[in-house]
Amino acid sequence: MSKVVKFGGSSLASAEQFRKVGAIIRADKSRRYVVPSAPGKRNSEDTKVTDMLYACYALAEAGKPFETELAAIKARYDEIVSGLSLNLSLDEEFKTISVQFQGKAGADYAASRGEYLNGIVMAAYLGYTFLDAAEVVFFDEEGNFLADKTDEVLSVRVKELGNVVLPGFYGAKENGVIKTFSRGGSDITGSILAKAVHADIYENWTDVSGVLVADPHIIENPVAITTITYKELRELSYMGATVLHEDAIFPVRKSGIPINIRNTNRPEDPGTMIVESTCKQPEFTITGVAGKKGFVSINVEKDMMNSEVGFGRKVLEAFEQNGIPFEHMPSGIDTLSVFVHRPEFEGKEQAILSALHRLAKPDSIEIDADVALVAVVGRGMKSNRGVAARTLASLAHQNINIKMIDQGSSELNIIIGVANEDFDNAIRAIYEIFVSTRL
Ligand code: ASP
Repeated sequence: MSKVVKFGGSSLASAEQFRKVGAIIRADKSRRYVVPSAPGKRNSEDTKVTDMLYACYALAEAGKPFETELAAIKARYDEIVSGLSLNLSLDEEFKTISVQFQGKAGADYAASRGEYLNGIVMAAYLGYTFLDAAEVVFFDEEGNFLADKTDEVLSVRVKELGNVVLPGFYGAKENGVIKTFSRGGSDITGSILAKAVHADIYENWTDVSGVLVADPHIIENPVAITTITYKELRELSYMGATVLHEDAIFPVRKSGIPINIRNTNRPEDPGTMIVESTCKQPEFTITGVAGKKGFVSINVEKDMMNSEVGFGRKVLEAFEQNGIPFEHMPSGIDTLSVFVHRPEFEGKEQAILSALHRLAKPDSIEIDADVALVAVVGRGMKSNRGVAARTLASLAHQNINIKMIDQGSSELNIIIGVANEDFDNAIRAIYEIFVSTRL
C-alpha cells in the first residue's frame, strides 16, 4: 500500500502546522510520498510566501533593492526551522536565490522557491529524501507540461529513493529554466506523483474537511460530501466550488486512483473521496449545490423557429464571431436563450446584437442582465423522483422567482436561473430542504 500526501499552504504555514503534518505522516507508514506547497497564511492578515516571492522578484526585475523583502521571506522559513528545532541552515540557499534574482531568473523561478525551500525543510523534518522537481517534472519550450516524459523519469527516480519529498508547483524546461504550473498547482504535482508511483490513494490535505455540500460563505458549517464522482466534482467546480486545481484530476482519474480531500486540523474527519464511479448513493439525495452570479441571458424570439433549419447555428455564430463562449442554451418553441458571462458580454454587446439581427433575423431580442445560476448536482437524481419538484418548491416558499430551468441530459444537474439578489437565499433554500431536513 502506498499513498501520496499533498499538503496545502495553510497546513505548512508555521512550525505548529508542520508538527500536525508530521504526526499525520508518521501515523501511517504508507504515506511515503509527500508533496508540500509553500507556507501559506498563518492568519487572515498574513501573506502567502508565494505572493511574497512574486512581489520581491518584481522589485528585483525593476532593478530596485529587494533585500528587505527577501529577508522577510527567509524569516518565515527560519521561524519554521527553529520552531521544529531542526539542524538546518538555509543561508546558502538564500544567497543563491539573491544572486538568481539579480540575474533576473524569472518570476516562475522566484515563485517556485516557496515550494523548493519548504520541500527541503519537510525532508529534513521527516528524514525523507528531497527530490528537486526541476529534475523530474518536465515542460517543453513553450511551457506545456510533458506528461509522458515526466511519468517515465519520475517513476524510476522515486523507486530508487524510497520515501520522498517532492516540492509541488514547478518543474523545468529542457534547458533547465524553471517553469511553474498555474496558481494552486501543487495539487497537480501530487496527482502526477500518484500516477507515477501507482499510489493506492492520493490524499490532498487542506484546511477544510472535504468538498462541502454548499459554500461556507453562504451556509454556516455546511456538511462535507463523503463520496463524489469526478463528473459531479467537475459540475460543482465549474459552478464555483473550489477545492482542487482542475488539472489535478486528469492524471489520477486516468489511472483509477481516488483522491481523498482531508483536513490537517481535523485528521479524524474522513474527508471526501473523489472517485471515478461508485455504487454509494449520496447521503442527501443531492451531492451538492453551487452557483455563480453575473450572467446575462439573451433571449432570441422568432416565429416558427423550430422549422427553420440552421437557426441555432446562426444564433451561436453571432457569439462565435465575437469570441464569446456560451454557458447554457435552453430553448422554447419559438425562443432560444443564450446565457453568457456578463463581464465578457458587456464590451461586445452591440456587436453581438447586430450580428444576431444580421445572421438570424429574429422577431425580437430581449436581454436580461440580472441572472445568477444555481446548480443542484447529484448522481442520485437519476434514480430519485421529485428532486426538481422539491428544488422548485423550496424556492417558491422563499418567494424566489425562477427565470430559467435547465436539466442536463445526463441527469447529473438541474440549473436554475434567479435574480442576483436572490442567489444566496436560493442556495439556502435548497440546502435546507435536502440537507437540513433531509427531504
Ligand atoms: N504556492 C503556490 C500558490 O500559492 C502553489 C500551491 O500552493 O499549490 O499558488
